[in-house]
Amino acid sequence: MVRFFGKFPLALLGLSWCMAQAAQPELNLYSARHYPTDEALYSQFTQATGIRINRVDADDAGILARLKAEGSASPADVILLVDAARLWRAEIDGLFQPVKSKVLEDAIPANLRAKPANNGGTPWFGLSTRARILVYDERKVSAADIDSYEKLADPKLKGKLCMRSGSHPYNLSLFGAMTEHLGPAKTEVWLKGLVANMARSPKGGDTDQIKGVASGECAVAVTNSYYLARLMRSSKPEDQAVASKVKVMFPNQSSWGTHVNIAGGAVARYAKNPENAIKFLEYLVSPSAQRHFADGNNEWPVAKGVQFANPALQAMSGGSFKRELVPISAVGMNQIKVQQMLDRVGFR
Ligand code: FE
Repeated sequence: MVRFFGKFPLALLGLSWCMAQAAQPELNLYSARHYPTDEALYSQFTQATGIRINRVDADDAGILARLKAEGSASPADVILLVDAARLWRAEIDGLFQPVKSKVLEDAIPANLRAKPANNGGTPWFGLSTRARILVYDERKVSAADIDSYEKLADPKLKGKLCMRSGSHPYNLSLFGAMTEHLGPAKTEVWLKGLVANMARSPKGGDTDQIKGVASGECAVAVTNSYYLARLMRSSKPEDQAVASKVKVMFPNQSSWGTHVNIAGGAVARYAKNPENAIKFLEYLVSPSAQRHFADGNNEWPVAKGVQFANPALQAMSGGSFKRELVPISAVGMNQIKVQQMLDRVGFR
């Protein structure tokens, strides 16, 4: 039986409603960027292009699990993840489609994107960078004792070091980069030294490590730069108090440079709106979006020559710093090897 609404069959009304919906171009975004300041970034894109963004927020593991469960029926067009180790994992699991875009290739240095796939396209792109830095209590350690990652394993620092879990992707990437610099054998000895120097069993996130230094439990700790910047720029007196109690070190300035990780993006393997997906990634490397990553979320732009005015980034780095140049794809690729080392040395 056909049901009518007024003189129109309901099925027909449903069809025209669908067509009206389809008239506005859209983009399905699965994002693991856990930063509220990104809202402005997304609405600017919609304003400029008319493309509506339907967003699914989840953590990285949740996004990867969801994509796998959805398979070819997945509506995801763009996937944003916040670490090279995770991007590499998703690439290997076949969740991305390599894309060719001159805009992205011109804007993003080659070491901050995936190696080209067989078709010449790139599976994923770094969109912003963050440094894995040290914070320390200058009354307990001197800058000269912690000016490189290698020195964190020196017996001099016994009982002084705080770090989150070794298996967290931020650390897997740092250790993957160390493996590129030192080779696996020396890296494993180094990891053993870190475990021997711990002030406490690894626990909490990066902000907890900064607080550990401020409270006196740790003398030196490892953190991503934006967590410190967030405390520095916070309006809460308790956050400012934490930030004011710690000194900052960008390690390895006189050797290979400080380890830099990325937050990045890719086009989903089964994207239903692949052109909009590429448009969105290209928008994210535009000067205004790149400036947003810096000023809004305390990350450094990947695109060269972008002017930004983030006082915390300026203060902590003195304006610029030497960055490590190992290909970020190699860093991701080392994570399985690194996890085995961590198991052997007992770095939970
Ligand atoms: Fe984070």
